[in-house]
Amino acid sequence: MKIFTMRSKLDIIWIDAVGCNGCSHSFLNYPYLKEIYKKFNFLYHPLIDSPAFKLQECDILIVEGALKNNFPRLGYNINDLIRKLIVRAKNVIALGTCAVYGGIFGEGLMYNKDLRGMFYKCKDKIINIPGCPVHYDWLVYVLDMIYKNKKIVLDNQNRPKEIFSFTSHSGCSRNEYFEWKIDAQSFGTKEGCLFYEQGCQGPYTHSTCNRILWNEVSSKPRAGTPCFGCTESGFPKIGLFTTDTFMGIPSKIPLGVSKRAYLTISGMAKSLKNERLSKKLIDGCNDEDNKENS
Ligand code: SF4
Ligand code: SF4
Repeated sequence: MKIFTMRSKLDIIWIDAVGCNGCSHSFLNYPYLKEIYKKFNFLYHPLIDSPAFKLQECDILIVEGALKNNFPRLGYNINDLIRKLIVRAKNVIALGTCAVYGGIFGEGLMYNKDLRGMFYKCKDKIINIPGCPVHYDWLVYVLDMIYKNKKIVLDNQNRPKEIFSFTSHSGCSRNEYFEWKIDAQSFGTKEGCLFYEQGCQGPYTHSTCNRILWNEVSSKPRAGTPCFGCTESGFPKIGLFTTDTFMGIPSKIPLGVSKRAYLTISGMAKSLKNERLSKKLIDGCNDEDNKENS
C-alpha cells in the first residue's frame, strides 16, 4: 500500500492579467478553501489576503486573463511580467479561456485563438484549463495532482484529459431529447434538447459541465440554457443562441460522428415518434410555471 506523506506547502503566485476576475470568483466559491490553505501558500493573489507582489520564484504560477501589448500590471507591462515569472515558476497554469486562447480580451499564453501564442515555447511547463469561468473543481484537481506530485495526463492542447476528454453533451439530462430530435422551443423548460433551436454547443465542446455540476447542483443545459462552448478557442462565437444549419442539417456535426452516420440516425429518429418525450412532463404546468420550477 502506498502511504502518502504530507509535504510542505507549495507557493502560488496568481496574476490577474487582462480579464474580469471571474475565474478568481469561481475559485472563491470552492466550499473547502480551508483545505487549500493547508497545502498552498499564496505569495500573491489579487483578491485573497496575501503579501504585496514581489518578483520571485514559486512552485505554481497561475495566470488568469489574457495577454496584451502595453497593458500595465504590478509595475510591468503584463507580457513582460508573465515572461519574468514563467522562468521563475516550476509549474504554470493558464486559467480560463482568456489565459488559454485569448478569449474576448487579447491573446492566450500558448494560443492566440487557434494559432500559436507567445509562450508556446514554454509548453513543457504550462497546463491549460479553459472555461469562462473555470469550475473550481477543475482547478482544485490540477492543484491537488501537483501537490501530490502525480502525473497529469494532458491532451494535445495541454488540457487535463481527466476534465477535457468529454464533451459537455456527455451527462446532459436532455440526452434522450437529443436522440429523438425533440427540441425545446424556449429557454428554461424542463423538456427538449437545446441543439437546433437554441444554439447549444454541447456536442462540440470539450468540458465536464454535465458531469461535474456547477455549485454541485446544475449546468446551463440542465437548467434550460444552451452551452456557449466557453472552453473552446473560438469562444465567444457570433450568434451564441444559434446553431448554423444548411437545409435543416447542422453545418457542424457533433464531434466524432460522420455526417452520414449523423444523418442516418437523426433521419430515423425524426421519422419515428417517442410518445413519452413528445408531451409535457408535468400535465397542467404551463411554460411560465415550468420555468419558475426549473
Ligand atoms: S475566462 Fe471568463 S471568467 Fe475567466 S477571466 Fe476570462 S472572461 Fe473572466
Ligand atoms: S441540451 Fe445541449 S448538451 Fe444537452 S443534450 Fe441537447 S445538445 Fe446535448
